This record gives sequence, C-alpha cells and structure tokens, in this order.
Amino acid sequence: MKIVMKFGGVSVADGDKVRKVGTIIRKFHKEGHRMVVVTSAMYGVTDSLAEIAKKASHGQKESVREFMDSLMLKHKKTAESAIMDERILKHAMEIVNARGDELRNILLGIAHIGELTPRSKDFVLGYGEKLSTPILHGVIEDLGMKSRALTGGEAGIVTDDHYGEANPLMNVTTLQVRQALAAMVEDGIIPVVGGFIASTQDGVQTTLGRGGSDYTASIIGAGLKADEVWVWKDVDGIMTANPKIVKSAKMIGTISFAEAMELAHFGAEVVHPKALECAARYQLPFRVKSLKDPDGPGTYIVTEVKVKAGNVVKAITNINDVSLITVSGASMVGTPRLAAKVLQILTDEDIDVLMISQSSSEESITLAIPKGSGTKAQNALELSMLGSKQVREVSVEGGLSIVAVVGAGMRGTPGVAARVFGTMAKNDINIRAIAQGSSELNISFIIDKEDGKKAIEALHDDFNPGE
Ligand code: ASP
Ligand code: MG
Repeated sequence: MKIVMKFGGVSVADGDKVRKVGTIIRKFHKEGHRMVVVTSAMYGVTDSLAEIAKKASHGQKESVREFMDSLMLKHKKTAESAIMDERILKHAMEIVNARGDELRNILLGIAHIGELTPRSKDFVLGYGEKLSTPILHGVIEDLGMKSRALTGGEAGIVTDDHYGEANPLMNVTTLQVRQALAAMVEDGIIPVVGGFIASTQDGVQTTLGRGGSDYTASIIGAGLKADEVWVWKDVDGIMTANPKIVKSAKMIGTISFAEAMELAHFGAEVVHPKALECAARYQLPFRVKSLKDPDGPGTYIVTEVKVKAGNVVKAITNINDVSLITVSGASMVGTPRLAAKVLQILTDEDIDVLMISQSSSEESITLAIPKGSGTKAQNALELSMLGSKQVREVSVEGGLSIVAVVGAGMRGTPGVAARVFGTMAKNDINIRAIAQGSSELNISFIIDKEDGKKAIEALHDDFNPGE
C-alpha cells in the first residue's frame, strides 16, 4: 500500500519516542509498504514559539537568548538519544544548528524592530517542524532506511497568503506534491515532511493553522493518491466517549467522515477537521492508529458506513468549559440581519462560535463560545449593538458545558431527541440551550459544567453507543 503516516507532537516528544516512531516506520517499510512520513514539532514547541515571538515583539532580547538556549538543548538531547550513528547524528545536528541560528537571528530582529506581523509570526512558528524533521529523518536513516527531509513547501504544498491559517491551492499543490515525492516514494525512499508549514507561490512561508500537520498528511495523500492516511495517536483510536469520563467507553472500529467531523468539532481531540474534510473530498480512507498497538486496526474513517438497525448513536462527546452569550431585545423579532451581524462581530474578534440557538419568537439569540472569550465577546457586542435599539441586553454566563450526541443512525430516526432529553430529566439535569444540525448527525445541548460527567455517563449507559 501507499500510506501517508503522520506523527504528532506527543509521538516525537523525546528521544525514546522518536526512536519508537522510527521502529514503527521500519516495521511497515519491511512489510513492503511505500510511505511518506509527516511529523509535527516536538510536544509544546509550537506553543513556546508563539510565546517567545510575542515577548520578542516587546523587545525582550534576554528572553530570546534564554529561550533559544533551552530550545537548542532540547533538540540536541533528543537527537543524541535517538540517533546512534555518529555520522548521521552529526549531519542532523548541522541542520538543526543552522536552523537554530536562523531562528535566533529572526527573533532578535523582531525584538529590535519591536513588531510582529502575521507573516513573521508564521515564519517563527514553522521552526518547530523545521527542527523536528531533520531528527526524525536521521533516525530513519539510522535504522537502515533511505529517507529525505523536506519542508511542506519543498514537498509542494502551495497556499494563499492568509497567514496563520493559510488555504492550500489544491490544483497546483496536488500536481507539485506528485512531482516532488512520487518518484522518491516509488524508489522506496521515505520522505519526511514537516507538517503544518507550507509556502505561498512566491515562496513565503505560511502555516495551515494550529494542529495543521494532520491537514498536511491529507494534502499529501491527495497529491499522491495514497491508499490510506494514518494518523498515529497515543490513544487506542476514536472512542465512544472520553475514557477518562466513561469507564465503559469502547473503541469505534469504523466511522464516517461526517461523524468524525462532528466529533472533532465538539471537542473530541482526534483529527483536525480540515484534514477530515480534505480526505473526504479526495476519498482517501483515513485511519487513527494507536502507538500503543501498532498492529491493531485503529479506527477506520470512510465515506459511508452502514448503520445497523437500532444503533442510532455512535459517540458522545463534550466541550467542558464554555460560556453562553445571549443577545436579547423585544424588537429583535424579524431582523434576520441581526444574527448575521452578531456572528460578524464575533468573527472580527476571532472568537470561535461553537453552537448557535435562536428561539423561534426571535426574541433572543444564544451562542456558545470558548470560556476565555466571554468578556471579549460581550465587550465587542455591547459596543456595536447596544445603541441599535433592537438590542436590549448582552449577557454572558460561564461555567457551562456542551454535550454532543453524534451518529449517522440518528438521521431520520424519530424520538432520539426525546430520549436524550428524557435521560437528562431522569437525572435531574437542567438543559440551558439546544441545537441540532440539519444534517441530523448530532444533537448538542448546554448544561452546567458540574453536570457534565453525570450527563455523559447517563447517555452512554442509555444509548450504549458503538457500531
Ligand atoms: N506543531 C503545530 C501545532 O502545534 C502543528 C501540529 O502539531 O499539528 O499547532
Ligand atoms: Mg495535533
């Protein structure tokens, strides 16, 4: 098979783990598969780059120096414990050190100028992958395979210049990815591509948005017409509920892209929704594989799954800490433009809207947003809407949780909502707002955060989700 394998930050968090990744790659290489490997930055590195870029823009040169020393030490230690062959190690460290020098100069430059543009921020953020890639490449060679290290741009991924969350230009990209990688892969060479980063047509570095290396894997899979895309995780696969909350949670064997996207949207940290969207569009079968059980099948994500009779719910998930913003006013009635305006204001403030619900009397519109954004959203909405006569009040309330019940079998099955809310009533759980997507793939609702665990356990008990 031709497989694109992606390893996330946790899987390359230290030398032992990178070595383990290498042995997994070797196992599948020996079985005769042709592969492309996509890697993230080492765990926590992208966050720390975002932080230091900000400090640099405030002129904190000393922080930059301290940061760079510890970043370089971390990568040096990782490389030294993961790569045995002296010559290969030396070569990997030459690249790591050269990139480290570049990054140090860039950060000091930002500190001198005291300005961080979206473009320069993307440039800085990409160094996590630029530093992890040569190390994993070294490990693969150390384990006796042929490999080439590339950035996303070198692998052919071209985007627009929407820095921070650039969009791949898929026509050019699929063509270029094929040109850059196909021959190599056919020859049994394993390209190691830094995820998350790409490049504009003018060669300026961009990023695909946080968590974007899953997306890189799908994009490359599309370009190479891969048989499957595998995303490796330190969990068993996609589960029917968070096993930390529900003891009896089970692994899901097969799930559709649409269901997996709903789960990803509602807090199940499985695969980046854009990666799923891209794989669905190019009909690339997708697998979540477990680092703990490399031989296991993991969770298979495909276009269509057959729904067994009576099996309406696939999984239950939640987003634990959300705030509810309610915009109300008697004269909101019949003003559809108002809802659009509310959403526009929140978009301008970069606030993620997780759920929307509007009463049919149109007297109020309620939105769920991440907890940290409550005050910012309220301020922005008050500033631009309170004067408008239509709006009487903008209120915000924290300490809430969204619960989402997901499954393709819910489509066209009457009574699922009644059963969900009946279960909540039996358990004395008060529901604050409700939404159902017109796809009928999910029912989501808002409850007090304290009731979250009880609600999920009760629903899991009642619906016994799975295949
Ligand atoms: N390193 C990037 C991030 O932390 C991309 C990724 O890990 O997927 O957002
Ligand atoms: Mg990730």
